[in-house]
Amino acid sequence: MVSGQETYECSKLLNYSYWIIVLDIDRFHIINDTSGYANGNSILKNFAHILYKFVTPGGLAARISGDNFALVLRDYGDDELPIRTARSIQEEFAKLAVDEFGSISLTCSAGFSKMPDDGSSFLDVMEHAEFALKSANGTNGSICGYEPSMHDSIIGNTELEKALALAIDNNELQLFYQPKIDLKTGKIMGVEALIRWIKPDGTIIKPDAFLPIAESSHLIGKISEFVLSEGCRQNKMWQIMGYPNIVMSINFTSSDFYQNDLKDKVLDALAKTGLDPKWLEVELTETLALSDIDYAVGQMNKLRELGVKLAMDDFGTGYSSLSYLQILPITLLKLDRSFITDIEHDNIAYEIVSAVIRIAKSKKIETIAEGIENPAQEDILRKAGCNYGQGYLYGKPMPAEKLEEFFEKNAKAHR
Ligand code: C2E
Ligand code: MG
Ligand code: MG
Repeated sequence: MVSGQETYECSKLLNYSYWIIVLDIDRFHIINDTSGYANGNSILKNFAHILYKFVTPGGLAARISGDNFALVLRDYGDDELPIRTARSIQEEFAKLAVDEFGSISLTCSAGFSKMPDDGSSFLDVMEHAEFALKSANGTNGSICGYEPSMHDSIIGNTELEKALALAIDNNELQLFYQPKIDLKTGKIMGVEALIRWIKPDGTIIKPDAFLPIAESSHLIGKISEFVLSEGCRQNKMWQIMGYPNIVMSINFTSSDFYQNDLKDKVLDALAKTGLDPKWLEVELTETLALSDIDYAVGQMNKLRELGVKLAMDDFGTGYSSLSYLQILPITLLKLDRSFITDIEHDNIAYEIVSAVIRIAKSKKIETIAEGIENPAQEDILRKAGCNYGQGYLYGKPMPAEKLEEFFEKNAKAHR
């Protein structure tokens, strides 16, 4: 058998080129955890069989590690070959999921590079394919080709990851709170905890700038633990201080949500702070919940058993199938800001929003509109039967002390 490095040397010598495609089974650890090792092993074997079907003369397929595989294909000048092949592999894999594993949704991601152009040795080229794979930042089903410029962003990301790890240790992460208002009474009924990174010089960094990096590293676990315990602590503190009882909503990413010990972690945070579970709400996005629906429902039910509330965040942006409202044990539906922005003028947005509110109501699910910025939007939503509102009209996300001022003003205005 010819080794990878020998193939590399031949390719240089004979002026051949090859594509190296590195493949990774998405969320394999979760599948392994939830459906058992026997199923996990069977998935790996089946995946290898699929890969073999795509090996062409002069090429090879191999398992690199765990759920990582590589495919080496001779290049005949067709630049679309790696993308087409990766897509076909994804399709076969999805079919396998349906045929053999019932409800498990199986996807894989791919990164590819070209040999010898993309590196100085076989390993170098292969590492570059892995770079390309990682650069998609954990997006399921991504297919990404290597570009030398990727180094810049990956090096940037490594730096950011180090800085973020330090920031966590130095307590630079802080929760801001955005009020949620009862549209009938105008009273505050809850807050959403939104994380901020506050640099020692006072610069505030928004979550979109650092959460993706946290998610692709172990840091997200630490951050989420902080958000959960700090959110519970702060809410209990406000209750002790005599402010009205409100629901504290926290956001979970899919890596938090699919943890086996999710229930224990939440229970632990509630027990340590003494917060009654009915004052805690977990926000999940549609895409997250639907990526593995059976498991998601199981996890959601565990949280519901504790008495914690469950909100579906950004509703309408993902697969947005209303039929899922039947299956998912959610208590609140958050209409995505994109529907609200232009609701005064956009008839279609208005129709969608009213229909969703109506259907949610029939399922005894409450609704909240995100991103309300003016009274006209509020008025339309109230008339459409929406229960709650959140947005700059009421207040931007703010530190705890500012929210205390908000409590006071809100109480005076709506006595
Ligand atoms: P999200 O959960 O959908 O949060 C709502 C986002 O919309 C927040 O952005 C909020 O500041 C913004 N927003 C609220 N009202 C308005 C409005 O009237 N107009 C406009 N233009 N924007 C409005 P933010 O704080 O930058 O958070 C962005 C996303 O980051 C959040 O989206 C959430 O998915 C994620 N995130 C924030 N904090 C956490 C956290 O602690 N943990 C996790 N896992 N994710 C978080
Ligand atoms: Mg949210
Ligand atoms: Mg949202």
